[in-house]
Amino acid sequence: YKINMNDLKLEGELGKGQFGTVQKVFHKPTNVIMAMKEIRLELEVAKLNQILMELDVLHQSKNDFIVDFYGAFFTESCVYYCMEYMDAGSLDKLYNKGVPEDVLAIIIIAMVKGLKFLKDKLNIIHRDVKPTNVLVNRTGEVKLCDFGVSGQLVKSLARTNVGSQSYMAPERFNVTENGYGVQSDVWSLGLTMVELATGKYPYPALNGKGGGIWEQLSAIVNGKSPSLPSDKFSEECCDFAAQCLNKDPSERPTYPQLLEHSFVKKYQDVVVDMKSWAEESYSLRQDIYKE
Ligand code: ATP
Ligand code: MG
Repeated sequence: YKINMNDLKLEGELGKGQFGTVQKVFHKPTNVIMAMKEIRLELEVAKLNQILMELDVLHQSKNDFIVDFYGAFFTESCVYYCMEYMDAGSLDKLYNKGVPEDVLAIIIIAMVKGLKFLKDKLNIIHRDVKPTNVLVNRTGEVKLCDFGVSGQLVKSLARTNVGSQSYMAPERFNVTENGYGVQSDVWSLGLTMVELATGKYPYPALNGKGGGIWEQLSAIVNGKSPSLPSDKFSEECCDFAAQCLNKDPSERPTYPQLLEHSFVKKYQDVVVDMKSWAEESYSLRQDIYKE
């Protein structure tokens, strides 16, 4: 079904990112609630068609750990990307003071499976793994969004404001090393894991004006990798994060290796009540944000 703006009823803003805003919308012809991401672009019309073609692969790529894609359309300066609405929002707003190890395990296993699917089935690397790009719904499902499907789209993004935290692997700051590999996503996975577990981004944060960027980047490049507190998390859990956060990209495990890790083995058959966790975390979040 081709989606266009006239068929959508806007139902409020879900959040703002570096490249535009995300709105909750109601698609009248199908009665489906969707999340619509507005992406501001700087480019010629010819490239828009290339972007839409590149996004089209998403129609043939359903997976339990990837947010569903419904369609995209564009106006003069923006691409609108319609995807599955995840009613508990992104992990950054749900982890509160840190998630317990069993919940962490379910989230991390979902992320590894999603990333592996993108790589094996779509031949893409995510490039932007971080808590805001992992979404949860109130049935307790965990799914990835915002992966770099369209090369042309990635090139055409018009940045509207700076992000406050970097999830980029140390090697990405090395200008002589070109090419972004899956191993860089594995670093971001490890960093996300530490943040979810401890309830805090593990490097010095930036202030509102982007100050402190040097301290943050130099800690990533020159500092010791972040790690999990061994008094609060099991040995398997701490080791999983440590392996992902190896500063040498070639030493980081692959997705099949991660799925064989003792941390995954320990939890893969454990039933975790993700629905209750999602509901509780979501209501806690509402206390904080006073929505
Ligand atoms: P950045 O621009 O640095 O990637 P971001 O991921 O926070 O940051 P957006 O991708 O524009 O920025 O998303 C903004 C917010 O909208 C997210 O933080 C998330 O909370 C919310 N959001 C995005 N997609 C959905 C969705 N499908 N369902 C529900 N909420 C969503
Ligand atoms: Mg995002």
